[in-house]
Amino acid sequence: MRTVRLHDTKTGTLTELQPRDGGKVGIYACGPTVYGRIHVGNARPFIVFSLLKRFLAHEGYEPTLVANITDINDKIYDAARPAGRPSAELAAEMSDHYVADTDRLEIGRPDHEPKATLMVEEIVELIRDLLDRDHAYVADGDVYFRVRSLPEYGALSHRDVDQMDQGEGVEGSARKEDPLDFALWKARKPMEDTWWPAPWGEGRPGWHIECSAMAEATLGAPFEIHGGGNDLIFPHHENEAAQTLAARGHELARIWMHNGMLELEGKMSKSVGNIRSLAEVLDEVGRDTLLMYFAEGHYRQPLAFTPEKLEDAARRVEGIRNAGRRLVPGESPEALAGHRDAFFDALADDYNTPRALAALAEWVREANSADAPVGDSHAREMLAMLGLENLLDSDEAAPSEVVELAEQRDAARAARDFAEADRLREELRARGWEVRDGADGAELVPIGP
Ligand SMILES: [Zn+2]
Repeated sequence: MRTVRLHDTKTGTLTELQPRDGGKVGIYACGPTVYGRIHVGNARPFIVFSLLKRFLAHEGYEPTLVANITDINDKIYDAARPAGRPSAELAAEMSDHYVADTDRLEIGRPDHEPKATLMVEEIVELIRDLLDRDHAYVADGDVYFRVRSLPEYGALSHRDVDQMDQGEGVEGSARKEDPLDFALWKARKPMEDTWWPAPWGEGRPGWHIECSAMAEATLGAPFEIHGGGNDLIFPHHENEAAQTLAARGHELARIWMHNGMLELEGKMSKSVGNIRSLAEVLDEVGRDTLLMYFAEGHYRQPLAFTPEKLEDAARRVEGIRNAGRRLVPGESPEALAGHRDAFFDALADDYNTPRALAALAEWVREANSADAPVGDSHAREMLAMLGLENLLDSDEAAPSEVVELAEQRDAARAARDFAEADRLREELRARGWEVRDGADGAELVPIGP
């Protein structure tokens, strides 16, 4: 079991992962708010934390990954209303899309995917505890968190409380004791079509309290890693941390791990209209290339989303697939173990996937220059961490008409009719197959997506 260090946003340092009860590691990654199809940027935390879990399991830890689905939120009401649809119906439909879209990544599902609508009881309980401890107050059926009641507030996002804006605009401002306070519960409004009962009146929870309650209910607190995009540090995660600390007297999570944003000709945003849906990107480049694209960037850094970057990733995928064809099933030579170890050491060092990829590339380069075919076990072990072990699976067999065209081409070459041989090569390409002339004769290789 390697010692794993991860960058903790709160302390700003690399922090050693300390599992519970021997090896248990709870990871909570904030999931999507389901008011539309998810965009390719939302796939980054899904991929980072799913694959981090895989790596931790490889090292002998027992990770549990929770990724919530926020299905109660202002954005859902706001999207459903103009469409003339019940908000619950829209949320259910988009939540199914989210599951289907992320399934196409083929990296498994989180262990738990709690939905806010199914956890309102736990949420109400947590708000009640905050009221009992005087960290919250009721105002006209709303409930607000009293920010200045918690001296630690601001510690996660390193902000001075006097410089903060909860982003709630004018909503509730007349009812708040202090503009800094944020909503835990919003009283039922005429234009909202869902609500739940609570001792202080019908309504629905605020976004931040949903996550505190769902994380605690699924993982217990404090758990080991809380993750999400760095756009959530404030106010969302600051408020999650504050609610649990205020209600329970202990922290929600030990390490706060944040991924950088995707940048598509500047920051991706709905207002600029440069959002790309995950489904659309998967249609275009396929999951192998997309997973490789994400692995090529360190999770904490912003990542440019450009055709060039996707082409780089596609080339790397193709390079590994080609190298894989020269490997044989079985144990890899001990002489290559150093590169394999460097790969895993890089992941243990703040989950550095670009450095891990460099080690993998070294391994591949040496394996390819060996005199005899090399066993593939190391490559399999490394690629599995990236969700790309399939790159070593044997190619699908060519259909019989393709094999026939290849045989005609062989015959044309034997008869030195190179014009015909070239024509047949092009025809094969058009059908998605490439002919490679090697020492053992021509080989048919499918052209990647
Ligand atoms: Zn959250």
